[in-house]
Amino acid sequence: MSRVGSPVPGHPILDEIEAADRSVGFARRAAEIDRSPEFPWSEFRELGRRGLLGLRTPTASGGRGLPMTAAAVGLHELARRGGTMFGKLSLQPDFSSVLDEVGSKELREEYFRPLVRGEVLIGNQITEPGAGSDAAAISMRAEKHGDGYLLDGEKSQVAFASDAGAALVYARTGGPDRGASGITAFLVPQDLPGIERTVEGDLGERWMRRGRVTYRQVRVEARRRIGEEGHGFEYLQRELTRERLLLGAVYLGVARASLEETVERAGVRTSFGRPIGRHEAVGFALVEDWARLDAAWLYTYRALERFESGVDVDAEAALSKWMATEVALTAIDHAIQFHGGEGYSNRLPYERRWRDVRSGALAHGPSEIMHLIAVRALWPSAGSGSRAGSLSSDRGRGSADKSR
Ligand SMILES: Cc1cc2nc3c(=O)[nH]c(=O)nc-3n(C[C@H](O)[C@H](O)[C@H](O)COP(=O)(O)OP(=O)(O)OC[C@H]3O[C@@H](n4cnc5c(N)ncnc54)[C@H](O)[C@@H]3O)c2cc1C
Repeated sequence: MSRVGSPVPGHPILDEIEAADRSVGFARRAAEIDRSPEFPWSEFRELGRRGLLGLRTPTASGGRGLPMTAAAVGLHELARRGGTMFGKLSLQPDFSSVLDEVGSKELREEYFRPLVRGEVLIGNQITEPGAGSDAAAISMRAEKHGDGYLLDGEKSQVAFASDAGAALVYARTGGPDRGASGITAFLVPQDLPGIERTVEGDLGERWMRRGRVTYRQVRVEARRRIGEEGHGFEYLQRELTRERLLLGAVYLGVARASLEETVERAGVRTSFGRPIGRHEAVGFALVEDWARLDAAWLYTYRALERFESGVDVDAEAALSKWMATEVALTAIDHAIQFHGGEGYSNRLPYERRWRDVRSGALAHGPSEIMHLIAVRALWPSAGSGSRAGSLSSDRGRGSADKSR
């Protein structure tokens, strides 16, 4: 085992993932789907069949119920073998945990359990053309209408724009003056009359087929509301901390694969009579990557343990996602460089990995906003001048507007 190999060798989940990889061919499929973007339904179903979707999702909801740390080891390995695509496929039930934790039993049976089995895909629609980082500024309306609601507005940049069977949609039931506490979550089937879906092109993670979804007078039954009116943002916020920690494990998995392969090559490729790794410019860069990767992994692992024991790790989760993205981008950049001209080609996976991991600095909250969250944790009572309820606000965002 290489010194930069799996951080938890011998963990039981690793054998299961190796078996799934042997049957699916993770790396080959990730490369094929990048070239011809489609949602990887057969891989998604296969992960579901093998119990590799929703690793930390409670068993009562159909998931594996692993502790967060064990789930992170699994996600790290999935990404190490198959890039962000396989890590994020496995994370799909986590991205919909608002449905699992707050939704009615009926909706959970209808959508969440099939999601964990890989039979349906659920989108998360928050971002709008006028509101991204500042998510509390969304303007999509959900007006009371008879025994339900009428949805009007546009969601942009959303993953699975045309592949999701249903989406968690965040819309305003209170006026703009209510800020975060005027936002309500709904689970909306994506084939309802009045919904129009458009897929747009992306730099990386093309399998997500992101795009726009417009809602014109879309009638949604009251039973599809998730939890209480005005609490949607609060539910979302709880989910984001967990997501960011697990995403850290995914990005570090891609970093590890890239570093392992580059160390291997730098040990056998020679120039000027010695392996290129023994030239200081190359060897020093790789040992720094090794240290950064291990440090970021241990930081994330500790935050996962604290999260599980109920400690507030919003700031650590934000820093973990930021750090993991940076560590991975640097390791991939070095992989491109130290594989020489071939490293820059699309015959090797590094250009794709770089494009895929680059999303980590934007999706689930941009890196600048991750910094803002951490700054607020250091000086919690100081005014920030930012809107309360943005993706940068800390806990209690539902009532944060009122406190400023
Ligand atoms: C691959 C991918 C998948 C995505 N999937 C989804 C999805 O499924 N559903 C969904 O709803 N959205 C999704 N998004 C959208 C994502 O959540 C937004 O891109 C993100 O929230 C930023 O919003 P924005 O793009 O409007 O950027 P803006 O809010 O316009 O920000 C632009 C820049 O300004 C910076 N900035 C903004 N405010 C501050 C501040 N106060 N201090 C410092 N800097 C600041 C930001 O950090 C950013 O760098 C996805 C994005 C990507 C890249």
